[in-house]
Amino acid sequence: MFQNLPLLKPDALMLVSQRFRADPREHKLDLGVGVYRDADGNASILQTIKQAEAKLLEQQMSKAYLPADGDKDFVRLMRQMVLGNDAPALADHRVAAAQCPGGTGSLHQAMALLKKAGNAPVVWVGTPTWPNHIPMLQHHRFEIRTYDYFDLATQSLQFDRMMSALGEAKAGDVVLLHGVCHNPTGADLDQSQWAALTNLVEARSLVPLFDFAYQGFGQGSHEDATGVRMMAERLPEMLIAASCSKSFGLYRERTGILLVLCENSAQATATTGALQTLARVNFSNPPAHGAELVRIILSDAGLTEQWATELQQMRERVGEIRTALVAEAEEQSLDIGYVATQTGLFTTFALSEDQTSRLADEHAIHMPGTGRINMSGLSLADLPGFVTALKETGL
Ligand code: PLP
Repeated sequence: MFQNLPLLKPDALMLVSQRFRADPREHKLDLGVGVYRDADGNASILQTIKQAEAKLLEQQMSKAYLPADGDKDFVRLMRQMVLGNDAPALADHRVAAAQCPGGTGSLHQAMALLKKAGNAPVVWVGTPTWPNHIPMLQHHRFEIRTYDYFDLATQSLQFDRMMSALGEAKAGDVVLLHGVCHNPTGADLDQSQWAALTNLVEARSLVPLFDFAYQGFGQGSHEDATGVRMMAERLPEMLIAASCSKSFGLYRERTGILLVLCENSAQATATTGALQTLARVNFSNPPAHGAELVRIILSDAGLTEQWATELQQMRERVGEIRTALVAEAEEQSLDIGYVATQTGLFTTFALSEDQTSRLADEHAIHMPGTGRINMSGLSLADLPGFVTALKETGL
């Protein structure tokens, strides 16, 4: 039965972690996996999550299954967080939504829904993108087209090229977009670029599929939703796969939501039903713990404020590291000013695999061969050595 299965190639980020752990040098850096780390290098649990867990322990009366589309209050609160309280689509009852296992589970359900809807659309994906997008789309057997998004060598957004590629897209084609904090480049569209893209998507009747995994890690919760909300105000149909992994630090709790804007409330009701059916056959119903914590936080003004402060601290620490890294690089005559204009956890340096291997071998700086680094893996004290290593390696 299984004789033709190929051996799994080791995951690039797992390899980075393995090499980091096996590195005996005392001072070493792990800039691989995309989990926020504080100034002491810890991926700690937010205080607000700890408090919500204490409440949950006290209040929870049952471990019975959640409904297939998840915790109703979590869904309601997350819909508002993503789309804004005053979103016209919410008032029009045309947003179908279902709690899903993390951002990945939400993307999976989005793709399964698009397939189930039966139009077998083409999906346009920017290059580069999150490494799991293409395998997921292939798994669902979509026809994939790519648009240029970012040029690593010049560290510049390829907006004109993106627009001209999408100018070729046909009505009903799906466009995969990163809502904010683009992974792996940290480069997002600005307000006027979102407006131009919204015009194009509307004019050509395209359907955006937003991967929205970092709300609050860019400029702030509202600001980070600029693109999502602009399109949600104008377009009849779109999908948003949102994750609570980063913004609530709930990575392993697999907490996320899929929102689907439909043309009208009747279609939204049918779509919610389809999402329930798809949940049934994929995982039956979503995991409860993380969603219950998010519900407890977002339904309590005090906890919401405290969580927003913790999110702001994470965002500001990443911002400080970016600014300080650019300043240190300037001191050492290395021009990487672009680092400070990018947002979120990641920047991808234009390094070859050979250069990233040398950074690991000669400087104990571990990152995937793509040159993507997790900014929060750096502390202020690391910066002089890090910049020297980058220079010596020829960035
Ligand atoms: N999308 C992007 C762009 C991501 O960076 C990630 C996580 O790294 C995800 C989706 C998946 O998030 P989750 O861990 O919630 O599945």
